[in-house]
Amino acid sequence: MKFLCVECDRQMQFEERQLPGDGTLAAAFRCPTCGRVVALLTNPMETQLVASLGVKIGGTTIERQPMETVRGMVATGKPDAFTDEGERGAGSGTIWSVEAQERLARVPNFVRGMVKRIYLDYARERGIAEITPAIMDTARTELGLEEM
Ligand SMILES: [Zn+2]
Repeated sequence: MKFLCVECDRQMQFEERQLPGDGTLAAAFRCPTCGRVVALLTNPMETQLVASLGVKIGGTTIERQPMETVRGMVATGKPDAFTDEGERGAGSGTIWSVEAQERLARVPNFVRGMVKRIYLDYARERGIAEITPAIMDTARTELGLEEM
């Protein structure tokens, strides 16, 4: 995962990584030329994905800094905010088994919201209360989504 400072056309350097108790992960990247900082904030499921893949964001780990510094660097925007919103609405009532959540966590980040939505729709249409890996298998076969 890399960020590019568009103005300077320079690759931003990894600066901080934090794993608070709630499973949220924050990583900051700083442009070596202009000093601009961008931060990445992921939700617990995305953090689980990153952890399960053994990915070291930025390749280096920098010494922990005081919380004030970290808070100052963490952006408030969440890249997947819209998917979470969709879930709370139409998807409420359907739960994911632990195994199903683990499986979903292995789906690449950029399509996970869509994949999740497909399974939720499938479950809701059939009155399925809990999504399990078996349900996911059945859904994939019925919907012709073998590679999800
Ligand atoms: Zn820059």
